[in-house]
Formats: sequence, C-alpha cells, structure tokens
Amino acid sequence: MSDKEPTNPFEEIQRQLKELFKDSNVKVSARGFDESDNFNDLFEAEGGPSLEAAKNESGDPLQKLRHFHLKPKEVRDHLNRFVIRQEAAKKVLSVAICDHYNHVRRSLSGKSDQLVEYSKQNILVLGPTGVGKTYLMKNIAKLIGVPFVKADATKFSETGYVGSDVEDLVRDLVKAADGNIELAEHGIIFVDEIDKIASEAGMGGRDVSGRGVQINLLKLMEETEVNLFSPTDMLSQMQAAMEIQRGGQIQRKTINTRNILFIVSGAFDKLAISIKKRIANNEMGFGAPPQEADEDMSTYLRFAETTDFTKYGFEPEFIGRVPVRVACNALSKDDLAHILTNSEGSLLHQYRQDFRGYGIDFNMSAEAILAIAETASKEGTGARGLMTVLERLFRDYKFELPSTAIKQFDVTSEMIADPAACLQELKAANAHLQHEVWLADIKRFATQFEKEHGFTLEFKPLAQETLIEEALETDRSIQSLCEEKFKDFQHGLSIINRNSGQTVFKIGKLAIKNPDKELSQWVVRSIDKTKSDSD
Ligand code: ADP
Repeated sequence: MSDKEPTNPFEEIQRQLKELFKDSNVKVSARGFDESDNFNDLFEAEGGPSLEAAKNESGDPLQKLRHFHLKPKEVRDHLNRFVIRQEAAKKVLSVAICDHYNHVRRSLSGKSDQLVEYSKQNILVLGPTGVGKTYLMKNIAKLIGVPFVKADATKFSETGYVGSDVEDLVRDLVKAADGNIELAEHGIIFVDEIDKIASEAGMGGRDVSGRGVQINLLKLMEETEVNLFSPTDMLSQMQAAMEIQRGGQIQRKTINTRNILFIVSGAFDKLAISIKKRIANNEMGFGAPPQEADEDMSTYLRFAETTDFTKYGFEPEFIGRVPVRVACNALSKDDLAHILTNSEGSLLHQYRQDFRGYGIDFNMSAEAILAIAETASKEGTGARGLMTVLERLFRDYKFELPSTAIKQFDVTSEMIADPAACLQELKAANAHLQHEVWLADIKRFATQFEKEHGFTLEFKPLAQETLIEEALETDRSIQSLCEEKFKDFQHGLSIINRNSGQTVFKIGKLAIKNPDKELSQWVVRSIDKTKSDSD
C-alpha cells in the first residue's frame, strides 16, 4: 500500500477545471472554498440584519416578518430619524413596503387570499446621486429585519459570462442572510444605475446588451427559481454535486424570487430634459425654454409617465413590472446642513466618536455647519459631498491631534476655508503643553516595556530631552523611536539580570544617542563584575 496521501477529489477537479478554462471567460472560482473570490466586489451586501439580529428567542429568523404590523406612518416616522427631506419618496415607499410585508405575513401564515392575485410592489426610485435613494431602502431593510443587497445595473451582462449574471444578486441575498434561504426569499434587492441599461434605440442607453439584462431582471422580478449555485461557477456546481455524493443533505437547491422586493433606481437626467420638453409642448404647444444654469432638472422626474420610460429605451414589460415610481429631489445647501445636524446617521456623529476615541471633543459653530454644507453642495454629489468636505477638513486634525495635548477645539468657518493654517495655529497655541505629552509618551513606553519584559527603564531628564529633540527633528513618534532604540534591550538586559539580578536600569543620554554601544558596555561590565566577585 502506498503511504502517499490520497488526492482530495475536489482539489483534483478544481485543478482540472482551472486547466480546462484557462483561456476562456468562464468564471472558475471555488466559492465557499476560496476567500479571494472577487464576487464580493461586485455587490454591496449591507444594511440587512445579521441572522442573529433577525432571530428572536425562538431562533426563527422569520419571526419579525411573521409579526409584521407596521403602519405606513410608522415607517415614515422611522425614516424621518435618518433621512432628511424626500417626503414624497418616504410616503410612497412606506405604503409599498407595508403592503408588501403585510402580504408576506399573510403568506407565511398560510392565510393569503387565493382569490386575490398579488401584484408585487417593485419600486422605481428616480433622482440625482447622493440624495438618499439607497439610504432610504437600507433603513427600511434594517427596520423590517430583511437582508439587503445593492448592485449597479451596468455590472451585468446578458449572458453572465462577461460581467456578472443578474441571478448572482439573488445568491448574494442568501449570503447577506447568513445562508438562510427563507429569509433571503423575503429580502430586498436594489439595482442602481438602471437608466444606463435602457437599450440603444432609446436616448439614454449605451449598452447593447441592456435589453437582455432588462429581460433577465424581469424574470427575477416576476417569479423564478434561482439556483443556489451559479451555472457559470463550475466549481460551486461541483461542490454541490460532491456534497450530495458524500451523503451531505443539501436541503434546498433553489431560491424562489416571488417575495423578493426589487428596487430599481437611477438619475435619469436625460429623461428629465425630455419630460420638461413634453410638458412645455403640452402646455404651450411650443418647445421648452432652455435649461437655466442652476435649474434643478430632477424636479421634472416626478412627472414621468410610462411612455417616457419606453421612449427612453425600456422594455414595456420591464417598466410594467415596476408599478411604484417616485422621484427624490436634489438637496439644497440648507438640506445638507440639516443632514449634518439632524440626521441620526450624520457623519458628524461618527467624527465625534472617532475623536472621542482619543479623548478629544470639538464644538462646531452654526456658521461652520453652513460653510460645510455650502462647500459640499458645490461638489454636486448630494450628501456624498459632505463626506468629501468633512474628510478634507478633519484629515490632518485626526492625524495630528491625538499626539498633542489638545483635548478640545472649535470648528469655525475659517477652519473650513483653510484647515491647515487653523491646525498650525491651534498647535502653536498649545505648544507649551506639548512637553508634558512627550514625557507621558516616554513613560507609556517604559510601562509597556516593564509589562512585557519585567525590566524597569528609568529615563533621566537629559535622556528625555534628547529623545524629544530627536522626535522633533525626525518627525517621528516617541513610541516608534523607543521601539527602534530599545529593540535589543530585552535580550541584553536578561543577560545582565542573570549575572547580577539587576531589574532597574537608568537610561542616560548615551543610551539614547547610541543604544547598542551602551547596552554592550553594560553587558560587559556585568560579566566583569561576576568574574571579579567570584575571584
Ligand atoms: P443615492 O441617492 O445615490 O442612492 P445614498 O442614499 O447612497 O445616495 O446617499 C449616500 C449617503 O449620503 C448616505 O449613506 C447618507 O449618509 C447620506 N444621505 C444621502 N441623502 C440623505 C438624506 N436625504 N438624508 C440624510 N442623509 C442622506
């Protein structure tokens, strides 16, 4: 009998398949086996609850859905805590969500009315970027307790061989539901940039396979069984087959999309222009006036009609499957200021928390809030502009302040205009306190060294000053300088300790200037002393 390890059959198949498809476009990834699989890059699976969060004591992840009794106004009020403005969208979404999950509750309890055919409330949300379209849906998914998956329509291709397959969205919902298929079957799929897959004949489209993607999405929106394992992902197919062979019971192999709610969304900027023209023609019988420089075209989106979408390049069946349509508006600079101060999800809370991690607090004046909102508004990316501005504003403060004595600072409108100059001023005003911080850093290193190695390092005043000078000259932290200088000390001090029992070591200027030389002299001295003691 050979003592060679038997080859793992799965690995062997994996190797052979890789060989086979080396030059083809077929995706060969060992999902579930290979974490480097880039599948996750394609999707944003977030917002949904972890399975644990959805479960209650009964251990049933669907418990929350079985007891769904929210009313539209309650959903709207919940959204108001996080999302500023977008009243029309909140209203429409609240009603659609309540209708959908009331239906889900009835069907889970087996009480759905067989005589009334249920038509799913798939939703189309129009509006510019960064105004809360995704944020609304993420908050809804969290509230309801269902998984949420988001992807851009432009990532999909008709065949799924180049780019990804729309069915991957459904499989990703299972991942977001921690593998619970039943919960995934009641989740929410958000497909953004849907306006980019209007077919070429339309005015907005650019993707020839857009029509095919629409048809594929349509199938999902209606009702279909999606394979738990991707047909283009050979290895997961093999994995499934082998699990069955091994006697492992795969309980379910497909996911039904009947109760999955689809939200499709897009900016539809060209559509807004054509709606403006249509309205002007209807009202006045002649062409629309040209667009004003600062005109918010998104306001026309709420007048969109089915024919506008079909003219734009959408399949009538596709648009027919998205009966709930609503537009979100562009956000003004006052809205952005409101988001900063009033939204429970405001980034400002996050920044406050980040600074508090170092015991630092900041005050922000009303003028500063307005200045941030105004600068963000110029970015033209909705509330995303706030992220850009805050990041630019606080970047150096987050880097520098934790290493200073500053525990409190004011964010003023001057700081928004020139954060670097204000930071220099702030540091200069607190320079007299900096010495204490450095001394504390040295002490912190000594304490840590003692904890790790059992030896006490006592830094003499001149050694402390030399260290601080070097830190300043080289723009390095005390911690990293000490780590470098004393990296071999533990070893040398152990030898000395063995020879003399010494545990406390005084660090003078020489030990900072030339630590290795100083340490070897200490070691030699301790050996000499042992010798002379024994003579
Ligand atoms: P999009 O409309 O492009 O889907 P998002 O909803 O993803 O934009 O918005 C990006 C981020 O901006 C959100 O995560 C949220 O923090 C913030 N945001 C956007 N709109 C609003 C709003 N109306 N109220 C509060 N925060 C918002």
